[in-house]
Amino acid sequence: MRALCLTTSGGPGNLALIDIPRPVLRAPDEVRIGVRAAALNRLDLAVATGLPGVPSPVYPHVVGTDATGIVLEVGAAVTHLRTGDRVVVNPGVSCGSCEPCTTKQEIFCRHFGVLGEHRPGLAAEEVVLPARNVLPIEGDWTWAEAAAFSLATLSAWRMLTTRARLTADEAILIWGIGGGVALAALQIARHIGARALVTSSSADKLLRAAALGAEAGFDHTTADIPAAVKARLGRGVDVVLDSVGTATWPRSLKALRPGGRLVTCGATTGHDVAIDLRRLFWFQWSLLGSSMGSSIEFAEIVALGNAGKLRPAIDTIYQLAQGRDAYARLASGQQFGKLVLEVTS
Ligand SMILES: [Zn+2]
Repeated sequence: MRALCLTTSGGPGNLALIDIPRPVLRAPDEVRIGVRAAALNRLDLAVATGLPGVPSPVYPHVVGTDATGIVLEVGAAVTHLRTGDRVVVNPGVSCGSCEPCTTKQEIFCRHFGVLGEHRPGLAAEEVVLPARNVLPIEGDWTWAEAAAFSLATLSAWRMLTTRARLTADEAILIWGIGGGVALAALQIARHIGARALVTSSSADKLLRAAALGAEAGFDHTTADIPAAVKARLGRGVDVVLDSVGTATWPRSLKALRPGGRLVTCGATTGHDVAIDLRRLFWFQWSLLGSSMGSSIEFAEIVALGNAGKLRPAIDTIYQLAQGRDAYARLASGQQFGKLVLEVTS
């Protein structure tokens, strides 16, 4: 069967569409899925270029950290899925038997990993996965929307709800609108009823974010963001979502109100930041880390997706053979929404 693979280390130039063996069920709690579409996340780019401290995958390495498709076969122990179900995949995998796993805090499992990063990814005609990572979908999802949903929406959902506890009477500042997590966070903030302020270097992206419910948008290359936020709200913001890292960290803190929360799931411009402890305790800020989400949170977002309340924005749909083009667009940062790979039609 066809799969989009990295054939060696050194970047997306080593992507190739190659033939690999069709996967088979090896345990009664697994399912085999015929993949219709896969989607990329920044993590895919990081895996292709190499992550410091993370061992290289085994090559050829199937890429793709998100996917949707149809159940082709279920193991004997699987009760919540049937052949023919349309499904989405939670790309966070764990052992399933340790204390964090059995209490549905899988992200704290010492064997936690992400499909496409620590394990083979999903941009293949068929994949075999633990059934607990797969949920059925219903409603009017397009294949592209379902493919683009899980990782970004799950990451944003955990950040805004479980971690930052954003409420309807609060406001959030989201840096860099256009990426999958930022756009999912905008939708979730609006779903909660919170006010959403966003930034971008692109006037076009700010306009498009306004159409999705952003109350105000600021050009972070020209505007004084903390001042602009305070002018808009008459105070600092309750929550900042900053996954940019070094480049934005000081301005994120300056934009926070006393008692505000900063939540992060990434560090795209660098991971070394400074903190003045006197300001941290005096203003009683909370600095919150977050990564991926639990099976409970995954079920919550899929329910909202099935109800039509959360749907990812799609930038471009590529054929599987155009994988390098999709990676190039991901690397450019020009996209507004997700990059989808059509696997089978
Ligand atoms: Zn575990």
